[in-house]
Amino acid sequence: MTLSKQEIPTQSYLLETEEILHSDIEKQVMQLFSLSRINAENIDELIDDISDNFLGADTASSDIDLDSLATKFCDSRVPSHPANLDKYLEYLSDNVIAHAIHTASPKFIGHMTSALPYFVQPLAKLMTAMNQNSVKIETAKSLSFYERQALAMLHRQIYNFSDNFYAEHIQNSQSTLGILTSGGTTANITAMWCARNAVLGAKDDFLGVEKEGLTAALNFYGYKGAAIIGSELMHFSFDKAADLLGIGNRGLMKIPVDSNNRVRVRSLRQAVAKCREQNLCIIAIIGIAGTTDSGGLDPLLDIAEIAQEANVHFHVDAAWGGPLIFSQQHRSKIAGIEQANSVTIDGHKQLYLPMGIGMLFMREPYIAQSIEKQASYTMRKGSFDLGKRALEGSRPGMALFLHAGLNLIGSQGYEFLIDEGIRKTQYMANRIRSMPEFELLAEPDTNLLLYRYIPESLRELVVKKQLTETDNLFINQFNEHLQKKQRQAGHTFISRTMKTSNCFSQEISIVALRAVLANPLTTEDDIDAVLNDQIQIASEIYMPTSSENVA
Ligand SMILES: *Cc1c(COP(=O)(O)O)cnc(C)c1O
Repeated sequence: MTLSKQEIPTQSYLLETEEILHSDIEKQVMQLFSLSRINAENIDELIDDISDNFLGADTASSDIDLDSLATKFCDSRVPSHPANLDKYLEYLSDNVIAHAIHTASPKFIGHMTSALPYFVQPLAKLMTAMNQNSVKIETAKSLSFYERQALAMLHRQIYNFSDNFYAEHIQNSQSTLGILTSGGTTANITAMWCARNAVLGAKDDFLGVEKEGLTAALNFYGYKGAAIIGSELMHFSFDKAADLLGIGNRGLMKIPVDSNNRVRVRSLRQAVAKCREQNLCIIAIIGIAGTTDSGGLDPLLDIAEIAQEANVHFHVDAAWGGPLIFSQQHRSKIAGIEQANSVTIDGHKQLYLPMGIGMLFMREPYIAQSIEKQASYTMRKGSFDLGKRALEGSRPGMALFLHAGLNLIGSQGYEFLIDEGIRKTQYMANRIRSMPEFELLAEPDTNLLLYRYIPESLRELVVKKQLTETDNLFINQFNEHLQKKQRQAGHTFISRTMKTSNCFSQEISIVALRAVLANPLTTEDDIDAVLNDQIQIASEIYMPTSSENVA
């Protein structure tokens, strides 16, 4: 969208500009830093009000369209003098908060972001008040050890090594049990980086890939190229990793999945053999514990066995499904995770922590040394500076939330949350099975559910399994339209994805509605309300079927 100069609205808080003397500006700016907060006596109360209002909303979002929204944010001038805080907050409230997504809404069940426990907000205030930089000891003294402890707690939950192991490594500057990152993407990239540097490390007079680069490393070890192998449902962070690590997206080998979205083990084994034949260095084999798309769980024990036989780094992407480790009832679904050389888990998904928390765990405490960097002003060898074995540099003290979550929710608390999500998913699956309007597209493994709406004229054919490819294309269009209309109206929200399916022994792409049941506040009534909303919206869609078109 492009606007002409006249069409660009001035931000409302700048409308009444008074002439301000330069000395006043200096005074105002210094007041912004004052502890007495003269200008902001009511700001806490105001923000609390705004937050409470926001969290209390019972819709998924406002119904503003995206073009109108973009028009609000086209003024690119920096105001020359400090704006009035009250006016600025009003602007924020009317333009940004009013149209933000209510990710905590019990009827927003389409994405992996949900309501947060109440302690997160006050802790966020504390975290910004402290403003630690976790990159190094000199800017994050206690927090560096506190972060290591929190990561060790989850490491233990995954690997369950001995007391001696944890005593030796938890606060040993040579060891890295985990790396706290901004998300699963950075964690996955870091994992591939460690794996690459470890497999192409220094040997004899070769200084390793880190010092000499990929071409020299492959040459030295006698390889023709390098690969990362995993399911076709791998998260796109692995495309980023392959690109960044210099192996190219072609080096990312994507193996087909079965109808339950699990990687085909036989094809995986063949891919490994093919790499050996073609003299490709396998950097890592990936197993997914909960695909982003459908929640599918790869057979981790089988993949672990293949990786072990091939002597290759085994990485489990458990960004979504990792917290299943807390559930007695469901943990077996990700059995094999404890054999992984590295594991990614997102804190901002099923650990119910705020955005910006990912984690990478290492089975072997010294492997992260393969990515270690030093800097003369800091990051000295032997120091506890966390930034020396990390992709990121300066970063906030997010460990505060992780440590608090693990303690204030506890392993049985997390178990309850995980089990509830899966129970509610079963409820929704049963509802969908019982309603002629919908078709369940796969049996849910955990708390993600794929289904679709079936227009009335085609329901009989679905029951008889007689849908043609043309029928499916029509249903695809209908569901795409339905999902967009539902999102636009904003009362409830379900996301959308594509699923390949077999139809008359032909692979076809099916548009799927995707529900994610992770919000503890979502009730069975909310689930019914979302489905009823979809039925209501569908009844307002007029879309001629292809046969009607011809007639
Ligand atoms: C969400 C997710 C990621 C990426 O994590 P971000 O936190 O979004 O960077 C990677 N893998 C899986 C399986 C995920 O679900």
